[in-house]
Amino acid sequence: MNIIFLGAPGVGKGTQAIKLAESLSILHISTGDMLRENVAFKTDLGIKAKSYMDQGLLVPDELVIEMVQERLQRKDCSKGFILDGFPRTIKQANKIASVIQVNKVINISVDDEEIVKRLSRRRICSSCGKGFHLDYIKPKPGGKCDKCNSDLYQRDDDKPEAIQKRLEVYKNQTQPLIDYYKEKNILADVDGSGSVDGVFDLVKKASS
Ligand code: AMP
Repeated sequence: MNIIFLGAPGVGKGTQAIKLAESLSILHISTGDMLRENVAFKTDLGIKAKSYMDQGLLVPDELVIEMVQERLQRKDCSKGFILDGFPRTIKQANKIASVIQVNKVINISVDDEEIVKRLSRRRICSSCGKGFHLDYIKPKPGGKCDKCNSDLYQRDDDKPEAIQKRLEVYKNQTQPLIDYYKEKNILADVDGSGSVDGVFDLVKKASS
């Protein structure tokens, strides 16, 4: 089963994709996480990607497509996977369609005001990468990760100017994928405005 998660930044795609991957025992592949890892390790890809990411812009298609293609060729993808954050452009979607069968696309939506609230209050563990929200998924007292007790940080692209840019980029480059997958009859819409567990119930129904 190969599933794609679509949605604007901040709709909770990552949280829901991880939960669904766990419940289906398939891989969770986040292109944002892969790129951040490349940035952290200062790989050639990371060095090229960093300035785009810091500004809230998409990393060029060629770079991301090559990274994803290489990842999907590994053995652990054979049982299926969830792609979180890919594709983000029609070019990426055409490419992925030529190498794998996409069984389902789950499109999560939340209104813009809520997205800004979610992103600006989001924090990430500097060690294990677990995501928190200062109001909804609270860290331990003292602002530490509840899994590994490390410090949390705010992503540069979760700061106000980058959030606006990311929403604009989403509307111009990624939103057209909703119609693209609707036409292929594999799109399921999920209202992402509820609680994490409430939205997960909808995600599970949508994926079955
Ligand atoms: P995310 O964690 O999915 O919000 O991604 C963080 C950033 O990584 C995005 O704002 C882009 O700069 C970059 N990125 C992640 N996935 C892609 C993709 N499929 N295409 C281009 N850029 C991407």
